This record gives sequence, structure tokens and C-alpha cells, in this order.
Amino acid sequence: MHPAWPSPGLTLAEVLRRFAPAYVEGHVLAGFQRRALEAITACRTPALGGQRYVCPHCGHEELRFHSCGNRHCPKCQALAKERWVASQGAQALPVEYFHVVFTLPHGLNVLVPSRGLDGLLFSCAAQTLLDFAHNPRWLGAEPAITAILHTWDQQLRVHRHVHCLVSGGGLSATGEWVSAKPHFLFPVRALSRVFRGRFMAALESALAQGRLRLPSALPQAAWLAGLVRQDWVVYAKPPCGGPAQVLAYLGRYTHRTAIGDQRLLGMDDALVRFRWRDRAHANRVRVLALPGEAFVGRFLHHVLPKGFQRIRHYGLLANRFKAVNLAKARAALAAAPVAPVAVESVADFAWRVLGVDIHRCPACGVGRLCWGGLLPPVRGPPGHG
Ligand SMILES: [Zn+2]
Ligand SMILES: [Zn+2]
Repeated sequence: MHPAWPSPGLTLAEVLRRFAPAYVEGHVLAGFQRRALEAITACRTPALGGQRYVCPHCGHEELRFHSCGNRHCPKCQALAKERWVASQGAQALPVEYFHVVFTLPHGLNVLVPSRGLDGLLFSCAAQTLLDFAHNPRWLGAEPAITAILHTWDQQLRVHRHVHCLVSGGGLSATGEWVSAKPHFLFPVRALSRVFRGRFMAALESALAQGRLRLPSALPQAAWLAGLVRQDWVVYAKPPCGGPAQVLAYLGRYTHRTAIGDQRLLGMDDALVRFRWRDRAHANRVRVLALPGEAFVGRFLHHVLPKGFQRIRHYGLLANRFKAVNLAKARAALAAAPVAPVAVESVADFAWRVLGVDIHRCPACGVGRLCWGGLLPPVRGPPGHG
């Protein structure tokens, strides 16, 4: 490893390699969970094959193994995030943006299958924002909304919430841009009540149609009444500035995994230790030690089924009319169309973010590495090597 690369600490892949086999033996996993485990533990190892490079100056041989590309792999998400942010350049409008977070009460996690809640949360949060935006009292216009699902809290427990980025204004039916008041979008207490009402109605119909079920021991009417009394937290973070800041800001949420390598502190034969921020106590940094298998179980809760979209667009950005609506909004704002940002190569990314020239020989620091052939994937127990 080149001394200029950030020194690698414990990685999620190492934790999963040690503890996932025992967990897999004792539990039934969905196919997509199994595939995520296989991908993350094989990422950048001989199991995926790679490329061989040789230094013409000192003869050093450098093996670079392929990455898995799985969206739950923290190693793969840094570049994926940069690429996504670059590709979204043309979507940001030159207006103030607001960040609104909708959370679900934990009482809902008893539902079977609780995965069905993800889609309900998306649609109810977006529809609530659209209700307010369409209301002439607040805006009377169509806003641009991007919503991102997170299912975890800092301790990897189930905590469903969506981060919504909402344009501070919208396009009226007559094609004018209507701006929100500066630094104020919608009243959050009212948002929270409307969201709860919408969600409870959607939940009751999902229960009636059998799309979601309560465990038979729980009486439904009492459980529903208890839910209504719980806190349905909606909060608005301070506005996050214009288009350039907005995309950088959004990128922090779009490609986050339930836990990244940088929070892992250590493991032994029994326990995994990681850092978490205690939001209930002024964001104090604390350390949690979890039995290895419990850690794997918590992590797997946050692996999403293949094809499930965790970033969704609404209002002006809703897929069918996106291009037309954005063009209209730009015209109304008299903004020049934004040229798409060129997607950066891995080499350029490493140079810009890490200050590392990946073409230079890590052994002598002089030669420029030459390609020396493909390394075929090495079949064997996943993750070894
Ligand atoms: Zn990976
Ligand atoms: Zn060399």
C-alpha cells in the first residue's frame, strides 16, 4: 500500500468475513441479503479478479482487484456518490432549497413484512409536501422534490426516515415561478399532523387489504390508537443554499450506507466496536460494542431488495415530465440551462480527493505503471485472499 493512501482501519468487509458465516448458518436470508454479503466481502479481493500493473522503472508488480459495485458496500459508495452528484448537475434550480425529514414511530416495526413500510413512507412524505406546496396559502405551485430513504439510526437499529430536499418555490399552473418566503417553507407542526393523517389512512388500507399484517397477538384497534398518540417527528433543517451547495449536500445522504468503514473501531472474537453519535445528548460521541452476529443481523436489516429505489423524485422532477418541467422552471427563473458536469475517472477522483496519483508506482515513486494483463476471478470461499 502506498504511504500516501489513507491508512486503512478496520473495514466492514473484514467484520462480515469474520462474523457473517456463523450468522448465515443460524438464520434464513433473502437472496439479495446473501448477495450483498458476498459482494461486500469479495470487494477488491482476488475473488472478483482484477488488473495487473508493472513498473518499468523498478519492476514492481501491482495487483488491483475489481470492486463489487454493490450499493450497500461502503468502499464502492464514495465514487458512486461523486458520479451521481455530477450527473444531477442539470437538475438543480438556482433557488434556495429546504431539507425536511419525515420519521416513522418505532411502534410500526412489528408489522409483517415491515419492508412494505418503505414504500408507504416515501409516498406519504412526498404527498404531504405536495399537499402543502399546491395549497395557495403556502405556495400554490409545483415544487421539485428529491427524497432519500434511510432505515437506520446511529446504532444500526431500525429507524425509518426520509430526507426530502424541496425547492423553495415552484412552478405555477400558468408557468410562473412562485418563490417561498425566505428561510421558511411550510410550518413543521402542521406538516407533521398531515403526514400522520395520510400515513394512518394508508396503513389502515394496507392492513385491510392484507398487504401488511400485525402479529396475531396484537389487537389492531388498540395498536393503531397507540400509534396515533406517538410522536410523528417531522423536522426541517436549515436551508442549504443554492444549486452547487445543494448537490454536495444531497450527496452526503444519497449514498450513505448504514455504517461506513470510518466508524468501525475494532473487533475481537466476540465483539464489534463502533462509534455512534448520541443525538438525544447533544450529539456526544459514544462507543457501542455489539456481539458480532448481532452486528451482522442489524446490518442486514438495512440491505434493500434489488430494484428498490432509495432515491425518488417528485413534483417537477417526477420522471414522466421531468425534462419539460425543468425547462419550464428554468425559463420562468430565466436561468441558463446547466451543462452536465463531466463524469470523473477513478484516477482523477483519487487525485482530487485523496491526492494520490494512481498511475505512479507505489514502490519507487518514479515509474509510471504499465498495464500487465487481466487477473481472472479466483473461485473459492468468498472473501478470502
Ligand atoms: Zn464494493
Ligand atoms: Zn517502481
